[in-house]
Amino acid sequence: MSSLIPDAAERPGDDPIFALNAIAQRRAAEGEEVINASLGALMEDDGSLAVMSTVTDAFRRVDPSRAAAYAPIAGDVPYQNAVVQDVFGTSALEKKAVAVATAGGTGAVHHGIVNFVEPGQTFLTTSYYWGPYAIIAKHTGRGIETFPMFDDEERFDLGSFESALNALLDRQGRALIILNFPCHNPTGYSLDEGEWRAVAEILMRAGSRGPVTLLLDLAYARYGGPGSDRWVEWLEPAVKHCTLLVAWSASKAFAQYGSRVGALIAVSDQADSRDQVFNALSYSCRGTWSNCNHLGMLAIGSLLSDPELSAGADRDRARMQTLLGERVAAFNQEAARAGLRTPRYEGGFFVAVFTDNAVAVSDATQEEGVFVVPLQGAVRVALCSTSVRDIPRLVASLARAIESVG
Ligand code: PLP
Repeated sequence: MSSLIPDAAERPGDDPIFALNAIAQRRAAEGEEVINASLGALMEDDGSLAVMSTVTDAFRRVDPSRAAAYAPIAGDVPYQNAVVQDVFGTSALEKKAVAVATAGGTGAVHHGIVNFVEPGQTFLTTSYYWGPYAIIAKHTGRGIETFPMFDDEERFDLGSFESALNALLDRQGRALIILNFPCHNPTGYSLDEGEWRAVAEILMRAGSRGPVTLLLDLAYARYGGPGSDRWVEWLEPAVKHCTLLVAWSASKAFAQYGSRVGALIAVSDQADSRDQVFNALSYSCRGTWSNCNHLGMLAIGSLLSDPELSAGADRDRARMQTLLGERVAAFNQEAARAGLRTPRYEGGFFVAVFTDNAVAVSDATQEEGVFVVPLQGAVRVALCSTSVRDIPRLVASLARAIESVG
């Protein structure tokens, strides 16, 4: 007889995306020409993991006795400052921000949810969203609700966002919204200037009625199109009326998925509220992982704060951005030619292809050795793990599957 509590006894054991990836890998090992567009890590065109030598060097340079010591609970202060600087640069928001180190962006999302939503309450996100948001909600006794992400023209559905936010605020007297832009996972969508400005206005209107917090999950932001980091300027006015949280991660930005280096930044107009938030977030660090990977924090911190090292890392990353950019351009061209329905896609690890029969489409492409992830209303294509030469075959397989199953 299991002594697990009933809730825990019902947990699914395997992440569906990792399960799909395992099938793709097994079939590739058996000699099949597989296109594995299921997993979210940037691969070279030869299928090996893309890594940054500047990052590897930075890890080697860290003094082993510093790395072996516990990091402070909220992270080293130079690391906190470097992360804030990385996001806000010369913006006035830089002075209004505090940060704590977290176990990747996942840890940052966790801390945002447990500190800005009461147990039993719900947070709001887009109808397409990264699955672990729902896992973190369930695991921490919170709920998740969504609003339709796209309108009829496949643009961000601002009207639905505002109605859902107002309804949530009326119902529970507070609201946390999680948005994952630029380069949304799983759709690839990035807001344009007009959409960011409209989001800021919606937040200001809602924030004048009750406590509103926006958590911006920046997991893929370094792979956005030109100017995509200007969201800082466009959101700035909203900070007078709501709290802004930023989930920062080195996983994709420094191709350092395994080191679990991240941070949660909190921006607030009031200094006393900043202190309170910092204390609350530090408490959550102590109550979860205690303190984060010190080696990773020191290495990534050096790459963020030393201008020469930072320039080297930027050059290293630029090569990866070009690698991915070529795939995005090739995909957009092939998808338009084949008539696939996708949202606007300018950069990022993934893109969604809309279909009402996602499971059937993914089953059909799998038979041709092409692995994509079925979602509600779309399949997710991981261009980060698809070589540019495989894109015509990938698109052709999707087009055939959609044509045959709808
Ligand atoms: N947010 C989104 C949308 C993601 O896709 C991921 C990783 O896949 C993360 C956050 C967090 O990643 P990590 O915890 O590795 O920083």
